Amino acid sequence: MTTTLIPVLRAAGVECFTRAQWGSPRQADGSYARRRTTHPMPAGPADFHFLHITVTDDTDRFVDGARSARFIETLGFSTPPMVSYQDLVTNEGRYFEGQSYGVKGTHTVNDRKVPGFANDLNLHGYATAIMQNVADEVTDAQVRTIALVFAARELAGLVRRGAPIFPHRKFAFKACPGDKAVARLPEIDQMRRRFVQHGLPTQDDEGKAIA
Ligand SMILES: [Zn+2]
Repeated sequence: MTTTLIPVLRAAGVECFTRAQWGSPRQADGSYARRRTTHPMPAGPADFHFLHITVTDDTDRFVDGARSARFIETLGFSTPPMVSYQDLVTNEGRYFEGQSYGVKGTHTVNDRKVPGFANDLNLHGYATAIMQNVADEVTDAQVRTIALVFAARELAGLVRRGAPIFPHRKFAFKACPGDKAVARLPEIDQMRRRFVQHGLPTQDDEGKAIA
């Protein structure tokens, strides 16, 4: 099973950083590899996409993003702490790898007891977090990267096609992922559907589109 979306995201022109590249101590000590055995996702495509916000400083450069990713790792609810989300996306549209695909995250719980949904939603979907604060802009580049992530999940069979995209606030007593991100969910949804229907773009396609 695919454990990372990075190759297809890079082919689509997204600047991506693996855990090794952003200097994850828990990658270095083998924690992520071990969790693949101890906390696998159930077989078959998951049902949902979840969107979160990390509530950390806006990052403009790779080194800022790497520092934030290492900080976010220390906040994880797992033992030892690992990044709770599968993906971290900055408002430059950059992608920082979080928890592996095929492995249960730890950040999406049905605290509101929304009827019809399980308590541990981490078993039923994958989580993407925008890596910034609530006041920071949610940009077009970021919307595109998030839509590519959701489409790539569906094309890889990790999430069922056309799965709902839920903001964390639907289930949690907090504003996550913030009003600016929630306002752009319809665009993310539409773009995701287009990418699934036509396949993820490649840099070559886009070169032609510009020419
Ligand atoms: Zn959240």
